[in-house]
Amino acid sequence: MPKINHHYTKLATSYLFVDIAKRVRAWQDAHPDSQIIKLGIGDVTRPLPPAAIPALPEAAEEMADPAQFHGYGPEQGYAFLREAIVRHDYAPRGVAITAEDVFVSDGSKCDTGNFQELFAVDQTIAVPDPVYPVYVDTNVMAGRTGAFDGGRYAGIVYMTGTRDNGFVPPPPEEHADLLYLCFPNNPTGATATREQLAAYVRYAIDHDAIILFDAAYAEFIRDPDLPQSIFEIPGAERCAVEFRSFSKTAGFTGLRCAYTVIPETVTAAGPDGARHSVRDLWSRRHSTKFNGASYPVQRAAAAAFSETGSREVRALSDYYLENAAIIRSGVERLGLATVGGINSPYVWVDAGRSSWELFDELLNKAGVVTTPGAGFGPGGEGFIRISAFNDRPQVEEAMERIVSALS
Ligand code: PLP
Repeated sequence: MPKINHHYTKLATSYLFVDIAKRVRAWQDAHPDSQIIKLGIGDVTRPLPPAAIPALPEAAEEMADPAQFHGYGPEQGYAFLREAIVRHDYAPRGVAITAEDVFVSDGSKCDTGNFQELFAVDQTIAVPDPVYPVYVDTNVMAGRTGAFDGGRYAGIVYMTGTRDNGFVPPPPEEHADLLYLCFPNNPTGATATREQLAAYVRYAIDHDAIILFDAAYAEFIRDPDLPQSIFEIPGAERCAVEFRSFSKTAGFTGLRCAYTVIPETVTAAGPDGARHSVRDLWSRRHSTKFNGASYPVQRAAAAAFSETGSREVRALSDYYLENAAIIRSGVERLGLATVGGINSPYVWVDAGRSSWELFDELLNKAGVVTTPGAGFGPGGEGFIRISAFNDRPQVEEAMERIVSALS
């Protein structure tokens, strides 16, 4: 008899997007002549950077030529891309990452979700609340938690974001073996200072823990004093892994390309206490379960790092940051406090009432869709997330509608 992995039965069913879709449909049925504006999604809307485009047909042409054909590539990624990542993201910030530390993949969702399987099932994980749900659900599937109760799983250490800590919660009081962090944060848009990241690194070193640092939105940081990489913090090279993606920065959500960075010096204990290189373990896993991101996509990713590509990628994130500024100023005109939206594409709005109440009001009075914060965990209750990922005219109209409907 086939038996399921019973940990899947613990997964809380998320009705968030189903509920949103239902309410949106009802509104659309009642207002057939009105255009709904979606500021709820975390998907990009702008086209790829032009510099990345020719790489795709060029790579296809090569594949059409027997002399230049590419079959399976290296599972860890082509050297040209791994080296470009080091040159573009790390060397200029004085971070001593090498191409061997970089593992190319087809997405940070898979990387952040899969990474936990390198670690023992009895490890304690710490996650922020509100949280990007992938970190939690993949650990539930792996059997690292107890039951779901009151919006939280038993056995997980939650680091709660609040108005008071600006949604940068301090490291936990209790012990955890693996800490998931995400800055700039999804959903709150919060960014962490050097001192705040240093406190997490200190915690990780003191507790012999590993930080799993999701930097999917690093490209949106404009403040030169804010670190873009956890590896800018001394000591992180011994206790941190970083995840990055081309999705939000270079518009690759449909093309798919990301990377995980693991310094050679990050280790974890085996059953006899001997230390093992986490980089070697991930390389072993990657070679066994993954056959490499496609050659044309890696060529396009490398082109996004060219001089012209970098300028265009910067212009893309500038565009979304300007959207975020328009959203923030509109919301603040209504007297609502915000977090994020400065070095981040998400604006986290203090609803001053329940998440769903403000969501419904914006939908019903303005025809604008947002995301209720409660969908990201109990710590998100009382807030909504407004995404800057949309085209400018849509964002401007959405904010005009919101301001005039709620003023
Ligand atoms: N990490 C965070 C925090 C995200 O918000 C997202 C996407 O929304 C991802 C990772 C996934 O990125 P990718 O498209 O590379 O899978």
